[in-house]
Amino acid sequence: MTDPGMKCSRCQAPARHRFPAHNARFCDPCLERFIERQVERAIKQFAMLEPGQKVLVAVSGGKDSLTAWQVLRRLGYAAEGVHVSLELGAGEFSAASLAACAEMAGRLQAPLHVFRMADLTGLTVEEVARANRRSFCSVCGTLKRYYLNKLALDLGFPVLATGHHLDDEAGRLLGNLIHRHHEFLENQWPALEGAPGGFAKKIKPLCRLAGREIKAYAKVHGLPVASGHCPRAKGATLPYYQEAMQLLEDRMPGTTRILYLGFLEEKDGPPPLPDVQAVCSVCGAPTWAEVCTTCRFLQRAREQKQARANEASAAG
Ligand SMILES: [Zn+2]
Ligand SMILES: [Zn+2]
Repeated sequence: MTDPGMKCSRCQAPARHRFPAHNARFCDPCLERFIERQVERAIKQFAMLEPGQKVLVAVSGGKDSLTAWQVLRRLGYAAEGVHVSLELGAGEFSAASLAACAEMAGRLQAPLHVFRMADLTGLTVEEVARANRRSFCSVCGTLKRYYLNKLALDLGFPVLATGHHLDDEAGRLLGNLIHRHHEFLENQWPALEGAPGGFAKKIKPLCRLAGREIKAYAKVHGLPVASGHCPRAKGATLPYYQEAMQLLEDRMPGTTRILYLGFLEEKDGPPPLPDVQAVCSVCGAPTWAEVCTTCRFLQRAREQKQARANEASAAG
């Protein structure tokens, strides 16, 4: 990855990082400046935050969200963390994820808000997925989006940041283009405005950075990244699009940026604000339906759980 004698493009010091997409080589301090600059540029380009604004960062314990948290703090934003623990399977992955977030909070001396999915819903993701005949990953994603938004509002944060980066967004874009998901294409933008009382603003401050650039930053800073992968992350199709993008990027450095950042530049600007007049009759969240997706999912899972308990007691 690096050649001996390689010099930093900025300061001519010995370089340790080579980023062909930028035709650049960096020493550690210049890598840090590069990462922070790219985040600053994204914040400005997409009007993500006001100077020093309060922002809640959804942290998983992985390199991306921990990097987002650290960089936002270093850029002077009042960034606090929120972690929703899923307690999956044997729980080792979930425990390591929570421990990584807690260690990061200590390093940054920043508050971390921790919630358990089981406390929020009274159910496990598994139970909700089974009752609704949906894939684990899609239900997990729906529940996480719903609760992260709700927690941001409840905790008094107008803005919620996530660690999604250029490769994530380019992979999603490729999938949306292939399947002509016009509605998703219209809404694919790294800063989505909120609506008072209903939606927090959603931002992706790492949208100009590739996964390997973030990985280098996390390594140089020794961020306490949780090792391992979600034991349930299988069967999701997004990684295929990301793999396809990675192949193109390896052969033609810069392709990912051209695809995603070019797509954004060609758009007029952010999508219009969601104009949702009705609210969910169960939870009060804005929705087009009588009952929002999350409440429907939870209702069905609770009914099924109750039915099973009744059966068990009848049998016993
Ligand atoms: Zn340098
Ligand atoms: Zn609802």
